[in-house]
Amino acid sequence: MSLVLFCPITINTKEMKVLKFGGTSVGSAARMKDVAKLICDGEQKIVVLSAMSGTTNSLIEISDYLYKSNISGGLEKINALEEKYVDVIDELFTTPEFKSEAHFLIKTLFEYLRSFSKSVFTLFEEKAILAQGELLSTTIFQLYLNELGEKSALLPALEFMRIDKNAEPDTNFIAENLAKQLSEQQGNTIYITQGFICRNIYGEIDNLQRGGSDYSASLIGAAVKAQEIQIWTDIDGMHNNDPRFVEGTQPVPVLHFEEAAELAYFGAKILHPTCILPAKLNNIPVRLLNTMDPTAHGTLISTQSKKGKIEAVAAKDGITAIKIKSGRMLLAHGFLRKVFEIFESYQTPIDMVTTSEVGVSVSIDNSKRLEEIVNDLKKFGTVTVDKEMVIICVVGDMPFENVGFQAKVVSALSEIPVRMISYGGSNYNISFLIKSEDKKRALNALSAALFN
Ligand code: ASP
Ligand code: MG
Repeated sequence: MSLVLFCPITINTKEMKVLKFGGTSVGSAARMKDVAKLICDGEQKIVVLSAMSGTTNSLIEISDYLYKSNISGGLEKINALEEKYVDVIDELFTTPEFKSEAHFLIKTLFEYLRSFSKSVFTLFEEKAILAQGELLSTTIFQLYLNELGEKSALLPALEFMRIDKNAEPDTNFIAENLAKQLSEQQGNTIYITQGFICRNIYGEIDNLQRGGSDYSASLIGAAVKAQEIQIWTDIDGMHNNDPRFVEGTQPVPVLHFEEAAELAYFGAKILHPTCILPAKLNNIPVRLLNTMDPTAHGTLISTQSKKGKIEAVAAKDGITAIKIKSGRMLLAHGFLRKVFEIFESYQTPIDMVTTSEVGVSVSIDNSKRLEEIVNDLKKFGTVTVDKEMVIICVVGDMPFENVGFQAKVVSALSEIPVRMISYGGSNYNISFLIKSEDKKRALNALSAALFN
Protein backbone atom coordinates (compact mmCIF):
# COMPACT_ATOMS: atom_id res chain seq x y z
CA MET A 1 0.00 0.00 0.00
CA SER A 2 1.37 3.37 -0.91
CA LEU A 3 1.15 5.87 1.89
CA VAL A 4 2.28 9.10 0.34
CA LEU A 5 1.00 10.44 -2.94
CA PHE A 6 3.62 13.10 -3.17
CA CYS A 7 6.16 14.41 -0.76
CA PRO A 8 4.45 16.90 1.59
CA ILE A 9 6.05 20.33 1.59
CA THR A 10 8.36 21.06 4.42
CA ILE A 11 8.47 24.69 3.38
CA ASN A 12 6.32 26.70 5.71
CA THR A 13 4.51 28.76 3.12
CA LYS A 14 2.45 30.56 5.80
CA GLU A 15 5.54 32.53 6.64
CA MET A 16 6.27 33.24 3.03
CA LYS A 17 5.51 36.36 1.11
CA VAL A 18 4.52 36.48 -2.53
CA LEU A 19 6.08 39.41 -4.36
CA LYS A 20 4.94 40.47 -7.80
CA PHE A 21 6.97 42.76 -10.02
CA GLY A 22 5.28 44.35 -13.02
CA GLY A 23 6.61 44.98 -16.50
CA THR A 24 8.35 48.28 -15.76
CA SER A 25 9.97 46.87 -12.60
CA VAL A 26 11.74 44.28 -14.77
CA GLY A 27 11.77 46.51 -17.86
CA SER A 28 15.55 46.73 -18.32
CA ALA A 29 18.76 45.07 -17.14
CA ALA A 30 19.23 47.87 -14.61
CA ARG A 31 15.71 47.41 -13.23
CA MET A 32 16.21 43.65 -12.96
CA LYS A 33 19.35 44.26 -10.93
CA ASP A 34 17.35 46.51 -8.60
CA VAL A 35 14.71 43.82 -8.16
CA ALA A 36 17.40 41.25 -7.36
CA LYS A 37 18.84 43.57 -4.69
CA LEU A 38 15.41 44.04 -3.23
CA ILE A 39 14.52 40.38 -2.95
CA CYS A 40 17.83 38.81 -1.93
CA ASP A 41 17.52 39.22 1.84
CA GLY A 42 17.75 35.59 2.89
CA GLU A 43 13.99 35.24 3.41
CA GLN A 44 12.18 32.50 1.56
CA LYS A 45 9.69 33.93 -0.94
CA ILE A 46 7.78 33.41 -4.16
CA VAL A 47 8.42 36.03 -6.82
CA VAL A 48 5.94 36.51 -9.66
CA LEU A 49 7.16 38.39 -12.71
CA SER A 50 5.38 40.05 -15.61
CA ALA A 51 6.90 40.21 -19.04
CA MET A 52 9.38 43.07 -19.54
CA SER A 53 7.39 46.21 -20.38
CA GLY A 54 6.45 46.40 -24.05
CA THR A 55 6.99 42.69 -24.67
CA THR A 56 3.36 41.54 -24.44
CA ASN A 57 2.34 44.34 -26.80
CA SER A 58 5.08 43.29 -29.25
CA LEU A 59 3.91 39.68 -29.04
CA ILE A 60 0.38 40.82 -29.85
CA GLU A 61 1.69 42.72 -32.89
CA ILE A 62 3.61 39.64 -33.99
CA SER A 63 0.44 37.58 -33.68
CA ASP A 64 -1.49 40.15 -35.73
CA TYR A 65 1.03 39.85 -38.57
CA LEU A 66 0.89 36.07 -38.46
CA TYR A 67 -2.93 36.08 -38.37
CA LYS A 68 -2.86 38.11 -41.55
CA SER A 69 -0.26 35.70 -43.01
CA ASN A 70 2.20 38.59 -43.24
CA ILE A 71 5.13 36.32 -42.48
CA SER A 72 7.92 38.75 -43.31
CA GLY A 73 6.27 41.45 -41.15
CA GLY A 74 5.97 38.98 -38.29
CA LEU A 75 9.57 37.79 -38.60
CA GLU A 76 10.83 41.35 -38.70
CA LYS A 77 9.04 42.08 -35.41
CA ILE A 78 10.39 38.87 -33.86
CA ASN A 79 13.93 39.81 -34.85
CA ALA A 80 13.56 43.32 -33.46
CA LEU A 81 12.30 41.92 -30.16
CA GLU A 82 15.16 39.42 -30.05
CA GLU A 83 17.68 42.22 -30.48
CA LYS A 84 16.25 43.95 -27.44
CA TYR A 85 16.73 40.81 -25.38
CA VAL A 86 20.27 40.29 -26.66
CA ASP A 87 21.09 43.78 -25.37
CA VAL A 88 19.44 43.12 -22.01
CA ILE A 89 21.49 39.96 -21.54
CA ASP A 90 24.75 41.66 -22.49
CA GLU A 91 24.08 44.29 -19.89
CA LEU A 92 22.72 42.03 -17.16
CA PHE A 93 25.26 39.20 -16.95
CA THR A 94 28.92 39.61 -16.11
CA THR A 95 30.51 36.20 -16.49
CA PRO A 96 31.04 34.73 -19.99
CA GLU A 97 29.52 31.38 -18.93
CA PHE A 98 26.24 32.89 -17.77
CA LYS A 99 26.14 35.28 -20.69
CA SER A 100 26.45 32.47 -23.18
CA GLU A 101 23.92 30.31 -21.35
CA ALA A 102 21.45 33.22 -21.38
CA HIS A 103 22.06 33.81 -25.10
CA PHE A 104 21.47 30.14 -25.75
CA LEU A 105 18.22 30.13 -23.76
CA ILE A 106 16.73 33.13 -25.51
CA LYS A 107 17.90 31.90 -28.90
CA THR A 108 15.93 28.70 -28.34
CA LEU A 109 12.91 30.68 -27.30
CA PHE A 110 13.07 33.00 -30.31
CA GLU A 111 13.53 30.02 -32.64
CA TYR A 112 10.33 28.68 -31.15
CA LEU A 113 8.61 32.01 -31.86
CA ARG A 114 9.83 31.93 -35.44
CA SER A 115 8.44 28.40 -35.86
CA PHE A 116 4.91 29.85 -35.65
CA SER A 117 5.44 31.52 -39.00
CA LYS A 118 5.32 28.08 -40.58
CA SER A 119 2.10 26.83 -39.01
CA VAL A 120 -1.57 27.67 -39.32
CA PHE A 121 -2.35 30.54 -37.06
CA THR A 122 -5.30 30.41 -34.67
CA LEU A 123 -6.18 31.68 -31.22
CA PHE A 124 -4.32 28.66 -29.86
CA GLU A 125 -1.04 29.76 -31.46
CA GLU A 126 -1.63 33.35 -30.39
CA LYS A 127 -1.95 32.36 -26.75
CA ALA A 128 1.23 30.29 -26.94
CA ILE A 129 3.02 33.33 -28.37
CA LEU A 130 1.66 35.67 -25.68
CA ALA A 131 2.99 33.34 -22.99
CA GLN A 132 6.59 33.83 -24.14
CA GLY A 133 6.92 37.26 -22.53
CA GLU A 134 6.67 35.95 -18.98
CA LEU A 135 8.70 32.86 -19.88
CA LEU A 136 11.48 35.15 -21.14
CA SER A 137 11.55 37.47 -18.14
CA THR A 138 11.50 34.68 -15.57
CA THR A 139 14.10 32.54 -17.36
CA ILE A 140 16.51 35.44 -17.65
CA PHE A 141 15.91 36.66 -14.13
CA GLN A 142 16.34 33.27 -12.51
CA LEU A 143 19.56 32.70 -14.41
CA TYR A 144 20.73 36.06 -13.14
CA LEU A 145 20.01 34.96 -9.56
CA ASN A 146 22.13 31.89 -10.29
CA GLU A 147 24.95 34.11 -11.39
CA LEU A 148 24.62 36.02 -8.14
CA GLY A 149 24.87 32.71 -6.28
CA GLU A 150 21.37 32.99 -4.87
CA LYS A 151 19.55 29.71 -4.19
CA SER A 152 16.57 29.97 -6.49
CA ALA A 153 14.30 27.84 -8.64
CA LEU A 154 11.76 28.37 -11.39
CA LEU A 155 8.22 27.20 -10.68
CA PRO A 156 6.61 26.68 -14.10
CA ALA A 157 3.21 28.40 -13.97
CA LEU A 158 1.98 26.22 -16.82
CA GLU A 159 2.25 23.24 -14.43
CA PHE A 160 -0.01 24.66 -11.73
CA MET A 161 -1.96 27.72 -12.89
CA ARG A 162 -5.21 26.58 -14.45
CA ILE A 163 -8.60 28.00 -15.40
CA ASP A 164 -11.82 26.01 -15.65
CA LYS A 165 -14.46 25.92 -18.38
CA ASN A 166 -15.80 29.32 -17.29
CA ALA A 167 -12.28 30.79 -17.46
CA GLU A 168 -12.30 30.99 -13.65
CA PRO A 169 -9.22 29.87 -11.74
CA ASP A 170 -9.37 26.27 -10.54
CA THR A 171 -8.19 27.02 -7.02
CA ASN A 172 -7.97 23.38 -5.86
CA PHE A 173 -5.86 22.41 -8.82
CA ILE A 174 -3.64 25.44 -8.31
CA ALA A 175 -3.07 24.78 -4.60
CA GLU A 176 -2.35 21.08 -5.10
CA ASN A 177 0.00 21.47 -8.04
CA LEU A 178 1.81 24.49 -6.71
CA ALA A 179 2.48 22.58 -3.48
CA LYS A 180 3.82 19.74 -5.60
CA GLN A 181 6.13 22.07 -7.53
CA LEU A 182 7.38 23.64 -4.30
CA SER A 183 8.06 20.29 -2.70
CA GLU A 184 10.01 19.17 -5.76
CA GLN A 185 12.15 22.28 -5.52
CA GLN A 186 12.66 22.30 -1.75
CA GLY A 187 15.72 23.91 -0.30
CA ASN A 188 15.68 27.12 -2.31
CA THR A 189 15.28 30.62 -1.00
CA ILE A 190 13.67 32.32 -3.95
CA TYR A 191 11.00 30.73 -6.11
CA ILE A 192 10.42 32.56 -9.37
CA THR A 193 7.29 32.07 -11.40
CA GLN A 194 5.44 33.60 -14.35
CA GLY A 195 2.47 35.87 -13.89
CA PHE A 196 -0.36 36.03 -16.43
CA ILE A 197 0.06 32.62 -18.05
CA CYS A 198 -1.92 29.47 -17.32
CA ARG A 199 -3.52 26.48 -18.95
CA ASN A 200 -7.20 26.12 -19.71
CA ILE A 201 -9.51 23.18 -19.17
CA TYR A 202 -8.19 21.53 -22.38
CA GLY A 203 -4.62 21.81 -21.16
CA GLU A 204 -3.85 24.45 -23.75
CA ILE A 205 -1.71 27.48 -22.99
CA ASP A 206 -3.93 30.38 -22.00
CA ASN A 207 -3.74 33.52 -19.88
CA LEU A 208 -5.51 35.48 -17.16
CA GLN A 209 -6.16 38.47 -19.48
CA ARG A 210 -4.09 41.61 -19.91
CA GLY A 211 -2.62 42.86 -16.66
CA GLY A 212 -3.28 39.42 -15.16
CA SER A 213 0.02 39.07 -13.31
CA ASP A 214 -1.49 40.74 -10.25
CA TYR A 215 -4.18 38.07 -10.33
CA SER A 216 -1.52 35.34 -10.58
CA ALA A 217 0.22 36.73 -7.50
CA SER A 218 -3.01 36.84 -5.56
CA LEU A 219 -4.02 33.31 -6.59
CA ILE A 220 -0.57 32.04 -5.64
CA GLY A 221 -0.70 33.88 -2.31
CA ALA A 222 -4.09 32.30 -1.62
CA ALA A 223 -2.92 28.84 -2.72
CA VAL A 224 0.04 28.79 -0.32
CA LYS A 225 -1.79 30.79 2.38
CA ALA A 226 1.04 33.30 2.26
CA GLN A 227 1.74 35.77 5.00
CA GLU A 228 1.42 38.68 2.60
CA ILE A 229 1.07 39.49 -1.10
CA GLN A 230 3.18 42.39 -2.32
CA ILE A 231 2.51 44.12 -5.62
CA TRP A 232 5.59 46.12 -6.62
CA THR A 233 5.14 48.86 -9.21
CA ASP A 234 6.73 52.24 -9.75
CA ILE A 235 4.41 54.45 -7.77
CA ASP A 236 4.09 54.66 -4.02
CA GLY A 237 0.73 52.95 -3.55
CA MET A 238 -2.86 53.73 -4.44
CA HIS A 239 -3.39 57.46 -4.57
CA ASN A 240 -6.40 59.31 -3.19
CA ASN A 241 -7.20 60.71 -6.63
CA ASP A 242 -6.07 60.41 -10.22
CA PRO A 243 -2.65 62.14 -10.54
CA ARG A 244 -3.26 62.70 -14.27
CA PHE A 245 -6.07 65.12 -13.46
CA VAL A 246 -5.46 66.31 -9.93
CA GLU A 247 -2.30 67.87 -8.51
CA GLY A 248 -0.93 66.91 -5.12
CA THR A 249 -2.58 63.51 -4.77
CA GLN A 250 -1.36 61.40 -1.86
CA PRO A 251 -0.87 57.66 -1.39
CA VAL A 252 -3.50 56.09 0.87
CA PRO A 253 -1.71 54.16 3.65
CA VAL A 254 -4.51 51.77 4.64
CA LEU A 255 -7.46 50.43 2.67
CA HIS A 256 -10.08 47.81 3.37
CA PHE A 257 -10.32 45.00 0.77
CA GLU A 258 -13.70 46.39 -0.30
CA GLU A 259 -12.36 49.91 -0.70
CA ALA A 260 -9.43 48.68 -2.77
CA ALA A 261 -11.70 46.53 -4.92
CA GLU A 262 -13.93 49.52 -5.74
CA LEU A 263 -10.92 51.72 -6.51
CA ALA A 264 -9.25 49.10 -8.68
CA TYR A 265 -12.44 48.48 -10.59
CA PHE A 266 -13.36 52.14 -10.94
CA GLY A 267 -10.10 53.45 -12.23
CA ALA A 268 -6.97 53.09 -10.11
CA LYS A 269 -4.62 51.54 -12.68
CA ILE A 270 -2.05 50.37 -10.16
CA LEU A 271 -3.85 47.16 -9.27
CA HIS A 272 -5.85 44.75 -11.40
CA PRO A 273 -9.37 44.49 -9.93
CA THR A 274 -9.43 40.68 -9.99
CA CYS A 275 -6.47 40.61 -7.60
CA ILE A 276 -8.49 41.52 -4.50
CA LEU A 277 -10.91 38.59 -4.23
CA PRO A 278 -8.51 35.66 -3.68
CA ALA A 279 -6.64 37.70 -1.07
CA LYS A 280 -9.84 38.78 0.65
CA LEU A 281 -11.31 35.26 0.73
CA ASN A 282 -8.15 34.00 2.40
CA ASN A 283 -7.61 37.11 4.50
CA ILE A 284 -4.13 37.71 3.16
CA PRO A 285 -2.99 41.34 3.29
CA VAL A 286 -1.96 42.92 0.00
CA ARG A 287 0.71 45.58 0.09
CA LEU A 288 1.34 47.93 -2.84
CA LEU A 289 4.97 48.97 -2.90
CA ASN A 290 7.30 51.09 -5.02
CA THR A 291 10.51 49.65 -6.51
CA MET A 292 11.81 53.21 -6.98
CA ASP A 293 11.35 53.93 -3.26
CA PRO A 294 11.34 50.55 -1.50
CA THR A 295 11.16 51.91 2.04
CA ALA A 296 8.04 54.00 1.40
CA HIS A 297 4.98 52.68 3.25
CA GLY A 298 2.84 52.21 0.14
CA THR A 299 -0.72 50.98 0.61
CA LEU A 300 -1.73 48.14 2.88
CA ILE A 301 -4.96 46.42 1.86
CA SER A 302 -6.55 44.19 4.49
CA THR A 303 -9.64 43.85 6.69
CA GLN A 304 -8.63 47.06 8.46
CA SER A 305 -10.03 50.43 7.50
CA LYS A 306 -9.79 53.89 8.99
CA LYS A 307 -13.10 54.30 10.76
CA GLY A 308 -15.32 56.92 9.20
CA LYS A 309 -12.69 58.15 6.79
CA ILE A 310 -13.27 58.96 3.13
CA GLU A 311 -10.09 57.66 1.52
CA ALA A 312 -10.03 58.15 -2.22
CA VAL A 313 -11.74 59.08 -5.45
CA ALA A 314 -11.49 57.34 -8.82
CA ALA A 315 -13.15 57.70 -12.20
CA LYS A 316 -14.20 55.21 -14.82
CA ASP A 317 -14.53 56.49 -18.39
CA GLY A 318 -16.56 55.35 -21.36
CA ILE A 319 -19.84 54.83 -19.56
CA THR A 320 -23.29 54.81 -21.16
CA ALA A 321 -26.41 55.48 -19.11
CA ILE A 322 -29.74 53.96 -20.07
CA LYS A 323 -33.06 55.01 -18.53
CA ILE A 324 -36.25 53.00 -18.88
CA LYS A 325 -39.37 54.86 -17.80
CA SER A 326 -42.62 53.04 -17.54
CA GLY A 327 -46.01 53.70 -15.98
CA ARG A 328 -46.26 49.95 -15.64
CA MET A 329 -43.41 49.75 -13.16
CA LEU A 330 -45.66 51.36 -10.58
CA LEU A 331 -46.54 48.67 -8.02
CA ALA A 332 -45.53 45.96 -10.50
CA HIS A 333 -43.28 43.08 -9.59
CA GLY A 334 -40.85 41.39 -11.94
CA PHE A 335 -40.08 44.61 -13.82
CA LEU A 336 -36.45 44.82 -12.74
CA ARG A 337 -35.90 41.16 -13.47
CA LYS A 338 -37.16 41.58 -17.01
CA VAL A 339 -34.94 44.62 -17.54
CA PHE A 340 -31.85 42.89 -16.15
CA GLU A 341 -32.51 39.78 -18.22
CA ILE A 342 -32.13 41.82 -21.38
CA PHE A 343 -28.65 42.95 -20.33
CA GLU A 344 -27.80 39.40 -19.37
CA SER A 345 -28.92 38.05 -22.73
CA TYR A 346 -26.46 40.41 -24.43
CA GLN A 347 -23.69 39.53 -21.93
CA THR A 348 -23.45 43.14 -20.89
CA PRO A 349 -22.57 43.76 -17.25
CA ILE A 350 -24.27 46.62 -15.42
CA ASP A 351 -22.19 48.93 -13.22
CA MET A 352 -24.63 51.31 -11.52
CA VAL A 353 -28.36 51.01 -10.93
CA THR A 354 -30.74 53.65 -9.60
CA THR A 355 -34.50 53.34 -9.37
CA SER A 356 -37.59 55.42 -8.83
CA GLU A 357 -41.19 54.28 -8.66
CA VAL A 358 -41.64 54.90 -12.37
CA GLY A 359 -38.32 54.00 -13.89
CA VAL A 360 -34.83 52.65 -13.61
CA SER A 361 -31.46 53.91 -14.82
CA VAL A 362 -28.48 51.65 -15.33
CA SER A 363 -24.96 52.28 -16.54
CA ILE A 364 -22.81 50.01 -18.70
CA ASP A 365 -19.21 50.28 -19.86
CA ASN A 366 -19.49 47.90 -22.77
CA SER A 367 -21.79 49.41 -25.39
CA LYS A 368 -21.13 46.85 -28.15
CA ARG A 369 -24.69 45.54 -27.99
CA LEU A 370 -26.30 48.87 -27.11
CA GLU A 371 -28.58 49.03 -30.11
CA GLU A 372 -30.06 45.59 -29.54
CA ILE A 373 -30.42 46.24 -25.81
CA VAL A 374 -32.26 49.51 -26.41
CA ASN A 375 -34.56 47.87 -28.96
CA ASP A 376 -35.49 45.12 -26.52
CA LEU A 377 -35.96 47.56 -23.64
CA LYS A 378 -38.42 49.63 -25.65
CA LYS A 379 -41.17 47.12 -25.01
CA PHE A 380 -41.11 48.16 -21.32
CA GLY A 381 -41.36 51.92 -21.81
CA THR A 382 -39.53 55.00 -22.97
CA VAL A 383 -35.78 54.50 -23.27
CA THR A 384 -33.24 57.34 -23.04
CA VAL A 385 -29.51 56.88 -23.67
CA ASP A 386 -26.70 59.18 -22.51
CA LYS A 387 -23.26 58.46 -23.91
CA GLU A 388 -19.80 59.70 -22.93
CA MET A 389 -20.43 59.58 -19.23
CA VAL A 390 -18.05 58.91 -16.35
CA ILE A 391 -18.56 57.16 -13.04
CA ILE A 392 -16.98 59.04 -10.17
CA CYS A 393 -16.48 56.67 -7.30
CA VAL A 394 -15.84 57.95 -3.78
CA VAL A 395 -14.40 55.31 -1.49
CA GLY A 396 -14.08 55.15 2.26
CA ASP A 397 -15.56 53.76 5.45
CA MET A 398 -19.12 55.03 5.15
CA PRO A 399 -21.67 53.00 7.12
CA PHE A 400 -25.06 54.69 7.00
CA GLU A 401 -25.11 55.40 10.75
CA ASN A 402 -22.18 57.67 10.13
CA VAL A 403 -24.15 60.85 9.44
CA GLY A 404 -23.05 63.59 7.10
CA PHE A 405 -20.59 61.87 4.78
CA GLN A 406 -22.98 61.95 1.84
CA ALA A 407 -23.71 65.63 2.40
CA LYS A 408 -19.98 66.39 2.22
CA VAL A 409 -19.58 64.48 -1.01
CA VAL A 410 -22.72 65.84 -2.64
CA SER A 411 -21.92 69.42 -1.69
CA ALA A 412 -18.44 69.05 -3.20
CA LEU A 413 -20.21 68.40 -6.49
CA SER A 414 -22.66 71.29 -6.11
CA GLU A 415 -21.50 72.91 -9.38
CA ILE A 416 -21.66 69.74 -11.46
CA PRO A 417 -24.66 68.19 -13.23
CA VAL A 418 -25.16 64.68 -11.85
CA ARG A 419 -27.05 62.08 -13.89
CA MET A 420 -27.15 59.24 -11.29
CA ILE A 421 -26.23 58.82 -7.60
CA SER A 422 -25.74 55.45 -5.94
CA TYR A 423 -25.08 54.51 -2.32
CA GLY A 424 -26.11 51.54 -0.22
CA GLY A 425 -24.74 48.67 -2.28
CA SER A 426 -21.82 48.69 0.11
CA ASN A 427 -20.64 50.72 3.08
CA TYR A 428 -17.52 51.63 1.20
CA ASN A 429 -18.63 53.59 -1.81
CA ILE A 430 -20.82 56.34 -3.24
CA SER A 431 -20.90 56.65 -7.01
CA PHE A 432 -21.96 59.48 -9.27
CA LEU A 433 -22.55 59.44 -12.97
CA ILE A 434 -21.58 62.67 -14.70
CA LYS A 435 -20.65 63.85 -18.19
CA SER A 436 -17.08 63.16 -19.36
CA GLU A 437 -16.50 66.85 -19.89
CA ASP A 438 -17.07 67.47 -16.16
CA LYS A 439 -14.72 64.76 -14.96
CA LYS A 440 -11.63 66.86 -14.25
CA ARG A 441 -13.67 69.50 -12.48
CA ALA A 442 -15.43 66.88 -10.36
CA LEU A 443 -12.22 65.09 -9.36
CA ASN A 444 -10.61 68.37 -8.32
CA ALA A 445 -13.68 69.55 -6.44
CA LEU A 446 -13.78 66.28 -4.50
CA SER A 447 -10.07 66.41 -3.63
CA ALA A 448 -10.44 69.99 -2.43
CA ALA A 449 -13.44 69.20 -0.26
CA LEU A 450 -12.42 65.81 1.09
CA PHE A 451 -8.64 65.70 1.36
CA ASN A 452 -7.33 69.23 1.79
N1 ASP B 1 2.36 40.78 -19.44
C1 ASP B 1 0.93 40.82 -19.31
C2 ASP B 1 0.39 42.13 -19.86
O1 ASP B 1 1.16 42.96 -20.33
C3 ASP B 1 0.47 40.60 -17.91
C4 ASP B 1 0.88 41.66 -16.92
O2 ASP B 1 1.82 42.41 -17.15
O3 ASP B 1 0.27 41.71 -15.84
O4 ASP B 1 -0.80 42.30 -19.88
MG1 MG C 1 -0.09 45.71 -14.20
